[in-house]
Amino acid sequence: MPILVMKFGGTSVANIDRIRRAAKRVGVEVAKGYDVIVIVSAMSGKTNELVGWVNEISPFHDAREHDAVVSSGENVTAGLMALTLQEMDVPARSWQGWQVPLRTNSAHSAARIEEIPTTNITAKFREGMRVAVIAGFQGISSEGRITTLGRGGSDTSAVAFAAAFGAERCDIYTDVDGVYTTDPRISPRARKLDRIAFEEMLELASLGAKVLQTRSVELAMRYNVKLRVLSSFEEPSDTAGTLVCAEEEIMESKVVSGIAYSRDEAKMTLISVADRPGIAAAIFGPLSEAGVNVDMIIQNIAEEGRTDMTFSCPTDQVKRAEKALRDAKEAGQINYHDLIADTDVAKVSAVGIGMRSQSGVAARMFKTLSDEGINIKVIATSEIKISVLIDRKYMELAVQALHDAFELDKLA
Ligand code: ASP
Ligand code: MG
Repeated sequence: MPILVMKFGGTSVANIDRIRRAAKRVGVEVAKGYDVIVIVSAMSGKTNELVGWVNEISPFHDAREHDAVVSSGENVTAGLMALTLQEMDVPARSWQGWQVPLRTNSAHSAARIEEIPTTNITAKFREGMRVAVIAGFQGISSEGRITTLGRGGSDTSAVAFAAAFGAERCDIYTDVDGVYTTDPRISPRARKLDRIAFEEMLELASLGAKVLQTRSVELAMRYNVKLRVLSSFEEPSDTAGTLVCAEEEIMESKVVSGIAYSRDEAKMTLISVADRPGIAAAIFGPLSEAGVNVDMIIQNIAEEGRTDMTFSCPTDQVKRAEKALRDAKEAGQINYHDLIADTDVAKVSAVGIGMRSQSGVAARMFKTLSDEGINIKVIATSEIKISVLIDRKYMELAVQALHDAFELDKLA
């Protein structure tokens, strides 16, 4: 029988009533003839509560025990979902990560999936079980310890199961009805997209659109898993939600598909660095070793052998970046006059696969911002994305203006 993966996020399993609603949706797919793999998150708020308890004991906790505690929210929902399905006479059972077993590496709290053997679950499907309910977000390391995949990780569990079992599709049920051209809370003209390409979704997710964990999109792209994002609060229909799929499956798309933003960016500037071969390596090597995710970089024109170097990173990594650079200076690896951190900036990005074949997007973006009197501090581009760093107080305005300028409220 064809296999469907259905993932329910925290709000979709927030209480028994909602679990019943979710189970009914599963029942509908079973009636259509699918064997279903259901991936569940913890009830909404549960994971935060568990993380809070662990941190209350010690912020410097044993990462393995952290994962043992924090993964438990999903165990509860998996069991409750299986029970609810059984009450509806749908043959179902629950599986925790280690029972599958979903094997990961040992990077606790950010573990990467290494393998999902299909034998156990397939055998049960053969015996007549119709739904395997899996606790998302968790796995087991080769040391036999429980691991978790990072916040939002049950999206990644879902896609990984879909890939391993060759599922027809992976439906991600959440509390929004799809992927939007931008955040509807910022632009009232934001429009739900019927389809979006993996690469665009990847950019949007990593740029701050929080619908899907970035890694789940990476995985879906690598294994060509059709992903659908839809609301568990709306009436089911075949066209509901947004399909995240390969570029070839999108007939027509606009040059720009979406405007993303990220509030938590910081701009760091090293003033007066000696401009010599190897200087970039000397700066960004220690930053990378310190785990700082550097995003945009600019090196200014050098004068008299010295230059300013600017880069951006998430606000919560500023302290770490400062320390890494100070240490490198003290060790004599780099030499700069001053280090300035500007934490009042935000990143706004235009994303679209159409940019590959059409020019003028950057010009239009810069013109739009300049018409609004918004100063651009740093620019970064990729094949399908243009990002700018601006003062945070103009972020909403920039998103709205760009959404209008690229006419994202209108269909292609
Ligand atoms: N419950 C976990 C979290 O809140 C995993 C997930 O829901 O995706 O991050
Ligand atoms: Mg999530």
